[in-house]
Amino acid sequence: MPHGATPSAPSSPKPAHLISDRAKRYRAQKAVRGPKLCVLCGARGPLDVMHLDGDESHGEPENLAYGCRSCNTRLAYAFKRIGAGVPTQQYNPSSGVPTFKQYVWAITHHARHSHDEGGAIIHATPKSKRIEYARRIADIIRSRRGEVPF
Ligand SMILES: [Zn+2]
Repeated sequence: MPHGATPSAPSSPKPAHLISDRAKRYRAQKAVRGPKLCVLCGARGPLDVMHLDGDESHGEPENLAYGCRSCNTRLAYAFKRIGAGVPTQQYNPSSGVPTFKQYVWAITHHARHSHDEGGAIIHATPKSKRIEYARRIADIIRSRRGEVPF
């Protein structure tokens, strides 16, 4: 359980990591940019702030986008499901934008709140790519019901 969780928090269908730190969520609400519609499905509401790499500690605008409740929940579930079995990826910053496989490796191996290789890969991934990758991850989980193809 991440720090910041309180026993008095109201129950919610969202994963715990999405509701555990109200201060971060509040900051994310202030930092998010872009049109007010879900970046994954285009729905206009109700919208939450989506962390494109699944890590609430990454609150920079690059990692924030609007997402509907359904996609936000689905993406969080997808991140959870792909959390194992991904081979190690060596990322060379000079090779440019991380590939989808490198990105998935990064989000599943990056230790939250630490500056490790996974974090470097995530930071090297521009927002447009994070959106594309988040959509691919969500689509994979939806179409294959958790059967991870990598
Ligand atoms: Zn959506």
